[in-house]
Amino acid sequence: MAEAAQQPVVFLTEGTKRTRGRDAQRINILIAKAVANAVKSTLGPKGMDKMIVDDLGDVTISNDGATILDEMTIDHPAGKMMVEVAKTQDDEVGDGTTTAVVLAGTLLKNAEKLLDDEIHPSIIIKGYRAAATKAKEVMLAAADNVSSKDKKTLRNIALTSMTGKVAESAEALSDLIVDAISAVAEETEGKITIDIDNVKVEKKQGAALTESELIQGIILDKEIVHSGMPKKVKNAKIALLDVALEIKSPETDAKIEITSPDQLQAFVDQEEAMLRKMVETIKKSGANFVVCQKGIDDLAQHFLAKEGIAAVRRVKQSDMKALARATQGKIVSRINDLTAADLGNAAVVGEKKIAGDEMVFVEGCKNPKSVSVLVRGGSEHIVDEVERAVHDALMSVADALKDGKIVSGGGSIEEEVAVKLREFAQTIGGKEQLAIEAFADTLEEIPRTLAETAGMDPLDTIVNLRAKHKAKDGKHIGVDVFKQKISNMKEANVIEPLSVKIQAVTSGAEVAEMVLRIDDIIAGSSKGKGTEMPQGSGMPPGGMGGMGM
Ligand code: ADP
Ligand code: MG
Repeated sequence: MAEAAQQPVVFLTEGTKRTRGRDAQRINILIAKAVANAVKSTLGPKGMDKMIVDDLGDVTISNDGATILDEMTIDHPAGKMMVEVAKTQDDEVGDGTTTAVVLAGTLLKNAEKLLDDEIHPSIIIKGYRAAATKAKEVMLAAADNVSSKDKKTLRNIALTSMTGKVAESAEALSDLIVDAISAVAEETEGKITIDIDNVKVEKKQGAALTESELIQGIILDKEIVHSGMPKKVKNAKIALLDVALEIKSPETDAKIEITSPDQLQAFVDQEEAMLRKMVETIKKSGANFVVCQKGIDDLAQHFLAKEGIAAVRRVKQSDMKALARATQGKIVSRINDLTAADLGNAAVVGEKKIAGDEMVFVEGCKNPKSVSVLVRGGSEHIVDEVERAVHDALMSVADALKDGKIVSGGGSIEEEVAVKLREFAQTIGGKEQLAIEAFADTLEEIPRTLAETAGMDPLDTIVNLRAKHKAKDGKHIGVDVFKQKISNMKEANVIEPLSVKIQAVTSGAEVAEMVLRIDDIIAGSSKGKGTEMPQGSGMPPGGMGGMGM
């Protein structure tokens, strides 16, 4: 199989092509396995990194499943379905993307064996569904509770999510992450809601990770546009504009004929008057700080500075939205519409020098549930990867708090489910039993892969794990990749949210079912851009097949 996986699969050719029945299934499964193989070796703290080089030569180095799949160009529809698994996992729970993709790929790999034994896809699907339902029951039964007061456990959840991705000072970052989530969490009648959009992650290279900090408010990677403007504004009234403070330059084909110096002067005067009027409108609204999504003309900057109004320009749309939420201001798209009611509020807006660059800090916002995590790191690649790890950890802590349920990691929960599923399969019998057992085998792929990344013997590890889980009180036994032995992962503080594990099984099973249902692939070439792609570009040979699933 490893050999076949290395072959680029050229699928879309000129003219319409049709593949049916087992051939269609075989191709789809092959692709799904290849995609899963591409991320499998990154699993866990000892997982390897991938380097992805795009057409322009930009390099991304990552250990994060969702990021790797996002950066790869995958053209085959079955491959795209696998990318969707990662996206769904990322959207729903934010962590466990590699796990979800590996589960989906392995479910399909194991289904292939059943298909080879002439078991009909519909029976496999039925067995997989029953197994997925049972798996969730088992996980829920094995889960422990966690409360918002249990900072130590929350910290361990953040740590588990980041281990292997953040080399140093992960401990300090974990505290920061727990503080950030605690700051935005709301508890009403014992139910915790968390709007993760209230936590903004901003990154800046050029300092040690330990310099990372939590800011009560929003950070903009921008500087105040004009040196004559105040560098710090207290009791800020903020105008949020998504319109340029500029006079539109004439369209390319429009001509303005200027025949005399007077006319030129009149033209310049008129522009100046228009800019002055814009600034007057802003001043009249009561604003003392302008955040503009577009450009600000030099002259407008000068007028603003004269009025003592500070401004930043070309602010990202996502930052505009975050600011609107935090300061409770309204984004205005016509200057003339700007009134006092549209202005956002913050205690202080000011510029600070971070690693030689100016950044604008909007602190003491009207909405106190608005915080930023400023991620620091030595180089661009490091801050990028730390930012991703922080995202996963923030989501994990939020997930755990939201439903208050946690499980132990290191493959322990997966092995627990595998053992219980095999017992369950016995009660079902027939061919469906085989599918449920295949599902159990699939879950064991997680501890097996962790063992592999740690250089342990995968077979021995699984045999020992099974024995422990069949015995009493073995549910927390998993693969300790650092000590290279199986041990109690709860005691090792390797803890994950239940919802991450449930979502991984759910989305993995869903995509496996989707792929298994397909028995006909019809590819048209007249529309779509499929034919423009270089042959096999979505599947670089060796890039994916090397790991032999
Ligand atoms: P994913 O994208 O699925 O979250 P990760 O690369 O983050 O992939 O790896 C997560 C897996 O690593 C989980 O199964 C988790 O339990 C495991 N893990 C995390 N820390 C440890 C540890 N210290 N020892 C063993 N396994 C760990
Ligand atoms: Mg993870």
